[in-house]
Amino acid sequence: MTTIPDLSGRIALVTGASRGIGYHLAKGLAGAGAHVIAVARTVGGLEELDDAIKAAGGQATLVPLDLTDMPAIDRLGAVIFERWGKLDILVANAGILGVLSPVGHIEAKTFEKTMAVNVTSTWRLIRSVDPLLRKSDAGRAILLSSGAAHSGRAFWGLYAASKAALEALARSWADETKNTPLRVNSVNPGATRTAMRAQAMPGEDPATLPDPAEVAAKILPLASPSLTETGLLFDVRENRFLHYRRPE
Ligand code: NDP
Repeated sequence: MTTIPDLSGRIALVTGASRGIGYHLAKGLAGAGAHVIAVARTVGGLEELDDAIKAAGGQATLVPLDLTDMPAIDRLGAVIFERWGKLDILVANAGILGVLSPVGHIEAKTFEKTMAVNVTSTWRLIRSVDPLLRKSDAGRAILLSSGAAHSGRAFWGLYAASKAALEALARSWADETKNTPLRVNSVNPGATRTAMRAQAMPGEDPATLPDPAEVAAKILPLASPSLTETGLLFDVRENRFLHYRRPE
């Protein structure tokens, strides 16, 4: 999958659009013609995105928002409904690493914050925009997961649990909507040159990692109205969908 779709007239909501993979996904969606609703806390990063989108002839609406503010997520859905009456693309990309630590040593507040940003806010967002995505003729939901969800690696338990929960939500949501035009998939972007990766692997040379723009370009086709897959995990490194084992 390499073709960037024509998204003219489509409305796309991207969380974590102020930097990293989300920034480039937002820029790419706008470049393909979508009107991008860009969410993050850092106004400077959102403004930089807006400048880049406008310079390329695209359009964006900036929404400075902390995703731990759950009622604000509910209000966002209501505002999108009032202004556009539908949502075509949801990119649930915002996430935090939390802490790399033995499971038994994780502080309660770090555990709760990580789950709030990575899981609870994603569920709240799904709840807020699911009716809007169903109003689209080709709703697409893309949820950023991680290989950590399946790795069982020492010290990654908190982040891994949050991403496993995210994928579980995505799979059930996909199954519930499989007879509608909505397509829901998770994505494993693989190690990418961003602030989060530098936090996780401070000793690593970032030059050895793929650029977030490159990674985003491989994810963009999942927003295509012609996409048929749903309930799967897209692996960016392998550039293909992986199937989950179905229960007996
Ligand atoms: P970055 O740390 O570069 O960016 C994270 C984004 O999430 C920022 O835009 C940040 O915006 C936003 N964000 C974080 N907390 C909040 C919050 N409370 N409210 C609103 N926005 C928030 O991360 P990456 O680009 O590396 O990661 C993007 C996604 O990809 C994540 O879900 C991550 O788990 C996943 N991933 C990344 C990998 C990598 O190697 N980079 C590997 C595997 C998965 P702000 O701070 O302005 O609010």
